[in-house]
Amino acid sequence: MGTAGHDRFEAVMRKCVSLGREAAASGNYGLGAMVVREGAVLGASGSGLVEGTDPTAHPEIVAIRTAAERAGSRYLPGAYLVTTLEPCPMCTAAAIWAKMGGIVYGAAQPDALRWAAEHPDPTFTWRQITMRAKDVVRAGRPLIELHEGVCREDCLALFPLTGFRSRKPGPDGRQAEGGGRPAAVARAR
Ligand SMILES: [Zn+2]
Repeated sequence: MGTAGHDRFEAVMRKCVSLGREAAASGNYGLGAMVVREGAVLGASGSGLVEGTDPTAHPEIVAIRTAAERAGSRYLPGAYLVTTLEPCPMCTAAAIWAKMGGIVYGAAQPDALRWAAEHPDPTFTWRQITMRAKDVVRAGRPLIELHEGVCREDCLALFPLTGFRSRKPGPDGRQAEGGGRPAAVARAR
């Protein structure tokens, strides 16, 4: 893991940030992920978790699934998972199962934990399984590359966009609580 080679992923990460912005604007988590190989985009997804029924539909999983379908193989050697937030253990493991070349991320898990602590929200909880991607990578084979902090500031700037639309002040000027959704239908990441 390190900062070497960041330049080659910055353009892709900026596209991931755009996907995250679109996801946030449609009431989802501001997260985006892509799978790329030799300049070709094999898969891309913003977070679509909130309206769905699939608890595994993190943008990284959706992008990897699309990429594998497109490649016609469950293995994606030489492909990189690029994602705005450090992937959870499930998504990191999926990249290892797919024998990908590596994972590139912007914001880190501690950033999300800090955000969650400072901005309690029953809908957008930013829950984390507190295991770093590097620890999952270290435990698996093949040993895939890990690049962190690519366009980190742009990725961090997605956090406050999440829930923004539903938190706009109502006609009486008050902010809707819990993203304007009843607690009973509040969903977590
Ligand atoms: Zn995940």
